Amino acid sequence: MAKLLDGKKVSTKIKHDIQEKIHGLDNLAQRAPHLSVVQVGLDPASEIYVSAKIRDCEEVGMVADRIRLAPSISEEEVISKIEGLNRDEDIDGVIVQLPLPPHLSKNRILNAISPEKDVDGLHSLNFGKLGTHMQGFIPATPLGILELFKAYQIETKGQHVVVVGRSHLVGLAMSILLSRGDNPGDATVTLTHRYTRNLGRHTQTADIIVTAVGKPGLITGDMVKEGVVVVDVGIVRVSDKSRPSGYVLRGDADFESLQSKASYITPVPGGVGPMTRAALLQNTLQAAEQGVYKTNSSDA
Ligand code: NAD
Repeated sequence: MAKLLDGKKVSTKIKHDIQEKIHGLDNLAQRAPHLSVVQVGLDPASEIYVSAKIRDCEEVGMVADRIRLAPSISEEEVISKIEGLNRDEDIDGVIVQLPLPPHLSKNRILNAISPEKDVDGLHSLNFGKLGTHMQGFIPATPLGILELFKAYQIETKGQHVVVVGRSHLVGLAMSILLSRGDNPGDATVTLTHRYTRNLGRHTQTADIIVTAVGKPGLITGDMVKEGVVVVDVGIVRVSDKSRPSGYVLRGDADFESLQSKASYITPVPGGVGPMTRAALLQNTLQAAEQGVYKTNSSDA
């Protein structure tokens, strides 16, 4: 029976450590680390995600604010707003909640964030640093998964990892990180996507599967070998009339058929989700330490 990779438990410990560190740093900096979240439009899921990010920051002693912009705003106006946040020395991290309304260029807007404040790690410069193994910001979901591997001492060196889904935010970044010469890393990575023929042929040879697609039940027990580690990033609301909310959250992995074959598996919810949230806090603290805290502590 698979052991659970308990993201809730590991993230609680990470958040506790961040909180302690902030207490120690505050005296030098005279202010708490500060995250600004830009939210364009009225997407209902974004509303929930941004509120959760703000709550997480407050919980560990950071300051967070939500900058709401109208759905009809022009690209130039969004960029000008971001440039103002870049200039503000009291702000350490800036993120733009995705998705954006379709008339806005995601790449242009993400690249308007100062790379030093890009705590989602989606600016091209930070993504390039990820590929060239330089210090930068790593996107929160892959960073959270690396932390989960560390916490459970999941060996990746020499292992065959199959990443399912190639988004900039998750699958692509994950495949680069796990193939780098690092720990976790040093894996042989196969990156699969919507045009991969016979996905099961690849997953059957995997020691570790990281799936980030958003299709409930995509990965089933017959597609994996005994002892595989399954990390399920997918989160989809599936209608369930028996629940008061009217829905249940499902990942890409068919938990029922996988749990008797896998050695470890992440639950959904409670696996990758809380790790992603903790990793954003880690990145915000990193931005603060590299910015104002570093300046102040060397002055002290
Ligand atoms: P995306 O839509 O940008 O990418 C999905 C990827 O899946 C694409 O690369 C596509 O080629 C691939 N794909 C589609 N059908 C496939 C198939 N049949 N076989 C193999 N690959 C296939 O999505 P994303 O932003 O990477 O998010 C993926 C899922 O992860 C969503 O459910 C999202 O909600 C969830 N997510 C969760 C977290 C978290 O913190 N837990 C964070 C980010 C995303």
